[in-house]
Amino acid sequence: MDCIFCKIAKGEIPSYRIYENEDVLVFLDIKPFTKGHCLVIPKQHFENIFDIDENILQKIIVVTKKVSGIIKNTLNADGIRLSQSNGKTAGQEVMHFHLHIIPRYKDDNIPINPTATLHLPPADSKDLEKLAKEIKSKI
Ligand code: 5GP
Ligand code: ZN
Repeated sequence: MDCIFCKIAKGEIPSYRIYENEDVLVFLDIKPFTKGHCLVIPKQHFENIFDIDENILQKIIVVTKKVSGIIKNTLNADGIRLSQSNGKTAGQEVMHFHLHIIPRYKDDNIPINPTATLHLPPADSKDLEKLAKEIKSKI
C-alpha cells in the first residue's frame, strides 16, 4: 500500500520524531499551522475513526495528552487545539488516521477557531430532540 504515514512510521521516509512507543508515533507536521504543530499516528495502518482499533485509539489519546502538555510548556503556547478529520469531505487529506496537536499562541492569527459566524443559528428544540432520539436508538 502506498501510504505516506506508513512509510514515516517504518522510517522509510524521514520525519522529525518527537515521541514514540510500540504502537504510536508523534512527529512534526511538514506544513505547520503554528510552531510545534505535530501529528499523532498509529504505527499500524488504519484509515480513520471508523476503522481504528479501540485499544490503539486509547493509546493515541493518552500519548496526545502527554505530548500536548510538554509542547505547551516547552514552547510557551497559550493553548492547544486538537483536530482530527475523517473522510475527504471532512478535510482528511492523508488516509492514515492522524490527530493534529496544534499549539495556539496569542495573536497567531490563524483562522481555525470556529467563531459564532460559522455556527448555524440556534436549532429548534423539537428538531434536536428528534435527532438525539434517532442517534441514541442506534448506540
Ligand atoms: P489532514 O489534512 O489529512 O488532516 O492532515 C494531513 C497533514 O499531514 C497536513 O497537515 C500535512 O502538512 C501533513 N503531511 C502531509 N505529508 C507529510 C509528510 O510527508 N511529512 C510530514 N511530516 N507531514 C506531512
Ligand atoms: Zn498508512
